[in-house]
Amino acid sequence: MSDENKNCDLCQLPIEAPGFVLITTSGLKQFCCEGCQGIYRMLHEDELVGDGTAPAASY
Ligand SMILES: [Zn+2]
Repeated sequence: MSDENKNCDLCQLPIEAPGFVLITTSGLKQFCCEGCQGIYRMLHEDELVGDGTAPAASY
């Protein structure tokens, strides 16, 4: 599984800037922007692991 050339888990647009991620019970979700990350976090709040931020992610 590659983290590159992935599409946003919310709007399905190609991700051009990595770093917007959330850790959920169903795996790592990646987003194209902070807005999509925030919306996904609200919609899937009970699926987040911890606060949803990835310790190993590069912000
Ligand atoms: Zn998006």
